[in-house]
Amino acid sequence: MFIKMIEDNYKQRGLRNKLVKKLLEKGILDGRVLDAIGKVPRHAFFDDALLNHAYEDKAFPIGEGQTISQPFTVAFQSEKLKIKPGDKVLEIGTGSGYQAAVLLEMGAKVYTIEYNRKLYERTRDFLPQLSYQPYFFFGDGSKGIPAKAPYDKIIVTAGAPVVPKALTDQLAEGGILLIPVGDRERQKMVRITKVKGELKKEEFDSFAFVPLLGEQGWK
Ligand code: SAM
Repeated sequence: MFIKMIEDNYKQRGLRNKLVKKLLEKGILDGRVLDAIGKVPRHAFFDDALLNHAYEDKAFPIGEGQTISQPFTVAFQSEKLKIKPGDKVLEIGTGSGYQAAVLLEMGAKVYTIEYNRKLYERTRDFLPQLSYQPYFFFGDGSKGIPAKAPYDKIIVTAGAPVVPKALTDQLAEGGILLIPVGDRERQKMVRITKVKGELKKEEFDSFAFVPLLGEQGWK
């Protein structure tokens, strides 16, 4: 197993505080989201060669053609999900595990699924080294994880062509699904809330995510 040395010194904490201020200026107002971003050591998710960029508000490559999402995107999705401590959250697209760590810092119980086996194995082995322990799954998250449903919140961190019915079916009453929907290049952030069995839809800003693959995603 790969063990990484993780140091979190005053310099990294200072850069993290600056990032939090920048997110506040960009319109993230939920104090619990900002606190969580202020706690998760984002530099620990980076290769040595990119370490100096860890607290820039940018997405970066994590191998396998995938990315660690931009901090603003992570903060935006976490805020729009209205996470409450104890929420049961399904994350589709584990990637580096950074978003999962932010959700765990906010007190959620996190189920996370990744379609790329190497990333799944790497993050499953790495994240607990930072004392973040979601439930890890390998497979096609476009179908959700029906065996563990229902979920209070579902977050999709890859761009989908449509809202998969399997995901709205797995929402608890009052539950929220947040999913970027559009073409392969650009997607609108869509929030679906289940109210008395009915689905209420809202649309927010545009983002550029890597594609959601699988049965209910891009072929
Ligand atoms: N949440 C991640 C993080 O914090 O680093 C960023 C995720 S990255 C933008 C999108 C991830 O979705 C990739 O790791 C990709 O392999 C994964 N993915 C794509 N299609 C998937 C699917 N059908 N099921 C699960 N994961 C999928």
